[in-house]
Amino acid sequence: MSDSHTLSSLPRPNHHPSDALLVGYGAGCLCEGLSLAVALHLLHCLDCRAALAAVDAVGGALLEECPPDPLERLTLADTLARLDGAPAVAEAPPRRRREPEGQAGEAGVPGPLKPYIASLEGAPWRRLAPGVERVRLLRGARGGATHLLRVTPGTAVPHHGHAGLELTVVLSGSFTDERGRYAAGDMAEADGDTRHRPVADPGAPCLCLLATNAPLRFTGLLGRLMRPFLGL
Ligand SMILES: [Zn+2]
Repeated sequence: MSDSHTLSSLPRPNHHPSDALLVGYGAGCLCEGLSLAVALHLLHCLDCRAALAAVDAVGGALLEECPPDPLERLTLADTLARLDGAPAVAEAPPRRRREPEGQAGEAGVPGPLKPYIASLEGAPWRRLAPGVERVRLLRGARGGATHLLRVTPGTAVPHHGHAGLELTVVLSGSFTDERGRYAAGDMAEADGDTRHRPVADPGAPCLCLLATNAPLRFTGLLGRLMRPFLGL
């Protein structure tokens, strides 16, 4: 990687995509928003780049068996086991994933975001609630969507659950929820079993990408009241 020197000088992420997500990303099976979230994490993470290289080694075989549901509980161990019995693949088929171009920590818009947004300050931010702004980047086919969120320190995103999968990648600043603290490069993965209430940490505003493949379910009173206005 040409930017590995830059990466080595950055804090290493503590929260990573699941094996199933990396496998789905490597095989080009993820929807656009989820793929974008993984690409943004990869900007920061040498460990996941190495794991992805292993996935790439079997990319052709994976794509032939690409699961209809990318959230199938497929682990790297499963994938490598498949490799043992898989026929040699001469040529990898085309991919549709977002490549993690650019460098982590560079000023302005990270490479994977550039097809969607020209500048952060010039973006059409919409105020959702006191201390919470968003820009919608994508609307998914099954009710999911992809947004940039900018949250003022100390502000909570309403408590919510999930009908599908929600990926959050921190671009700058940090937040904390019931599962821990998430800083630049960290990915939070939440599904139908997860209910959480992220709060932006003190310091700089928390800028993150939030991608879902189904609408969020806001569970608290404030969340239910805000749901029509959030449009998430
Ligand atoms: Zn990682």
